[in-house]
Amino acid sequence: MYKKNIIYFALMIIFVLFNSCDRDIPINFCEFQDDSVKVDSLKISNKVIIIGIDGFRSDAMTQEITPSIFDFSQRNVYKNLSHLTEEDTYSGPNWSSILTGVHYNKHNVTDNSFDGSLFDMFPTFLNYIENNVSSINTSSIVNWLPINQKILSRDVDYYTNNQISDSLVFIEALNLLLNNDPIRPDILFLHFDELDAAGHNFGFSPNIIEYTETLKNIDLYVDSLVRVIDNKRLSGENWMCILVSDHGGDGYSHGDYNNIKIRETVLIVEHPSQNFKLLHKSNMTDIAPTVLDFLGISSAKFDCSSDGQSILE
Ligand SMILES: [Zn+2]
Repeated sequence: MYKKNIIYFALMIIFVLFNSCDRDIPINFCEFQDDSVKVDSLKISNKVIIIGIDGFRSDAMTQEITPSIFDFSQRNVYKNLSHLTEEDTYSGPNWSSILTGVHYNKHNVTDNSFDGSLFDMFPTFLNYIENNVSSINTSSIVNWLPINQKILSRDVDYYTNNQISDSLVFIEALNLLLNNDPIRPDILFLHFDELDAAGHNFGFSPNIIEYTETLKNIDLYVDSLVRVIDNKRLSGENWMCILVSDHGGDGYSHGDYNNIKIRETVLIVEHPSQNFKLLHKSNMTDIAPTVLDFLGISSAKFDCSSDGQSILE
């Protein structure tokens, strides 16, 4: 073990020397950590659904506008309506941080072009799963296509690769969950984008009818999805549900990190019996370590790289 550390140290020095002339590329000392994973056999068959809702302002999560999400938030949950965005409040950096567990200065996605992204250096949690536990079926269905095309295409067993509406995201999700078509999903990532579009077109606000009507539709999708998960739990499957957004919004945009209506958004993590770190103040990088923790997967390289922490107790 001691010898191994010396080798890591020597490799780091060489890496620093080789990279010191090129300041555009961040140095990741964790590159040299062991990238194998340890698996807890008692947890590895656990399952996770992530419901991503783009542009969900926290103060629109009310019993009136989102009755199902409100009820869901009253279950045994970790709930944070001040869930913190990246300082760079575009969608690209935030979904990248959700999926990798590192901040945008590391994965290097600074806008929605994804130019310069460093997902090889800072892989998504799905990449760790797929590379090490191939028996887990991973899937991603998104309205905003860059998530699948730029972040996840190499990391999941099944992903949608054409532009689809929120209603089709919902229908595809049901088809996976109810019919195992085309695969039985153990990890399912979903992304609904029409709320963000309503915000950009009509205004991000609980007082804007187009924004709230769109959110009410998504609330119905969430209601159905949670019912499906509840049924799966009755048949013995151990599911955790995560509902998360990438940013809020104000006026017609979401570019200003100093605006609390933009930088604070929604995270709800639900499980019937799990204890959560209720005092923890979550940010985007906490989702990836929470999922890996729930699946009993640990990796020295991931733990070294990650900026987040699991919210599971
Ligand atoms: Zn967004």
